[in-house]
Amino acid sequence: MKIFAIGRNYVEHIEELENERPDEPVIFLKPDTAILKNNEPFYYPEFSNNIHFEVELLLKVCKEGKNIEEKFANKYYDEIGIGIDFTARDLQSKLKAKGLPWEIAKGFNGSAPISSFVPKSNFKNLNDINFSLQINGETRQEGNTRLMLFNFDYIISYVSKFYTLKKGDIVFTGTPKGVGPIKIGEKLSAYINNEKFLDFEIK
Ligand code: MG
Repeated sequence: MKIFAIGRNYVEHIEELENERPDEPVIFLKPDTAILKNNEPFYYPEFSNNIHFEVELLLKVCKEGKNIEEKFANKYYDEIGIGIDFTARDLQSKLKAKGLPWEIAKGFNGSAPISSFVPKSNFKNLNDINFSLQINGETRQEGNTRLMLFNFDYIISYVSKFYTLKKGDIVFTGTPKGVGPIKIGEKLSAYINNEKFLDFEIK
C-alpha cells in the first residue's frame, strides 16, 4: 500500500511556515514502514531535534483507479480517519534551503501514526468536518475541512493523474495551523468531531 500526503492545503498553515500558496496540491509519499497503528508509541529518533506534529484527516482508498475525474472521485474512497504527519522540521528546512528533496524529513520510521477508519457515510457533509489535536489534554490544533484549499474529491482526482490508486492506500489531506514541536513524555490525542480516534505517547 502507499501513503500519499498533501502539503500546504490550509492557508493559515501555509502562512505560519511562510510557504507559497500552491496552484495545485503539493504531493509527497511516505513508505508503509512509517505507519504506527493501535496507539503504538512514537520513539523520538536520534537524527532530529525538532520533530513537529501535524494533525491531518485521512482518506482510505477503496478501489483501483487512475486519471479519475473529480465528479467520480468520491467513489474511490469510502472511509475517513485521522493521523499525524510527523515532520523532522530541522532536516526539512536544511534540505529545502538547498533545493533538495525532503523525503527523509517526512518518511522516516513511525512518521505516520494513524487511527482506525470509519465509513465516510457517518458524516453528513465531508466539507464540514471538525478535527483537532490535544497534547497532554491541551488543544494545540483545530481544523475544519471547509478551510481546505483542495477538497477530498479534488485531491483524489489530482493524485490519480500521476499515481494509480489502489485499494488500501491512505491519503493525508493536509494540516491546519498550529504545528509545533513534540517532546518525549507527551501524550497526543486526535479527535474527529469531538470523538477521540487516536491516543498515543512520545517515548
Ligand atoms: Mg502535513
